[in-house]
Amino acid sequence: MGHCNLRCLECSHLSPYVPHEIYDLNDFIADIKVLEQTLQLQYFKFVGGEPTLNRQIVDFILAVRQSQIAQKIIVSTNGVTLFNMSDEFFKALDILEISAYPGTLVGQKHIEFAKEKGAEFQKEILIHDKHIFRRTQTPYPHPSEQILQQIYDSCAILQKNNVIHHGYYYKCSRPIFTNYYLQAKGIQGTYLPEKDGISIYQPHFRDRLISYLQRGKPLAACQYCLGTVGKSIEHRQMTKEELHAMPAHFYKISQIVYMNQMRKLARYQRWNRNLQRFGMIAFWKKLLWIFNKLCTGSYLFKFFLKRLKICLNFAFQRLGSLILARKEKKWLIG
Ligand code: SF4
Repeated sequence: MGHCNLRCLECSHLSPYVPHEIYDLNDFIADIKVLEQTLQLQYFKFVGGEPTLNRQIVDFILAVRQSQIAQKIIVSTNGVTLFNMSDEFFKALDILEISAYPGTLVGQKHIEFAKEKGAEFQKEILIHDKHIFRRTQTPYPHPSEQILQQIYDSCAILQKNNVIHHGYYYKCSRPIFTNYYLQAKGIQGTYLPEKDGISIYQPHFRDRLISYLQRGKPLAACQYCLGTVGKSIEHRQMTKEELHAMPAHFYKISQIVYMNQMRKLARYQRWNRNLQRFGMIAFWKKLLWIFNKLCTGSYLFKFFLKRLKICLNFAFQRLGSLILARKEKKWLIG
């Protein structure tokens, strides 16, 4: 589900902009049935919006459990509705991930409650203190193709957080929700989320999925996204008015993005993607790691510093013995 009961500034799923929207349980089960023929996942994570707002959340979790598509099932929550959750909910999941945001109603009581339930049903409870968010969205398209490509190439999300939504498979959640954000800001466009994903119902899903994941071209949604290189920003809740307010367009891209980090990560990810295509990832990863270390200077610097020390030591020793020899010579002549 896309909507949420909080209005976090720079929410990574754009939830404050998403209207009441629920994934139909039968559609979800049908989607999972198709996916289980192709995917075997380590984790299946329910995110939102706020997943616990869905009254059928337990049925959703059990559908995934039955399919055996993933080894572990995680539910990610902001914790606000924790006291309303039944024992079945805690029994059904494997890991409960609580993002504790400052300025919300979630306090120590909620955390203690979750921990008690975790202990009772032997489930893992993870607490993430989220004071800092990353800038992630802009209503203005990126200033150049090069920046767009670098934002995409440096994006860590597309490497690990793929999303399934209404019969489509996406590299990230942005395509699904970007339209809501743009509409809230009064921008009318022809952006079609489906263009950024692939249908799981069309034939040859496996082959299409592989080529989709290896594609190096940015998504249409990347045009308005800062990926994972946006500058840090203090977390807070937005007012309703802020949802529709347009940020002033006077900033340069370097004011909202860590440029050096973006370039470096983009270079690294590009290499990585290309190497994955050749299937030599383990070997090349190691090589890249060494190359990266050398480029960042720490290894190279230490290497030269050590040699410089040896040379200087040797030079001083030579100089000392020369002076001594000269003195001795003078003394001998004298
Ligand atoms: S829209 Fe593009 S840059 Fe943003 S999270 Fe998705 S892949 Fe990354």
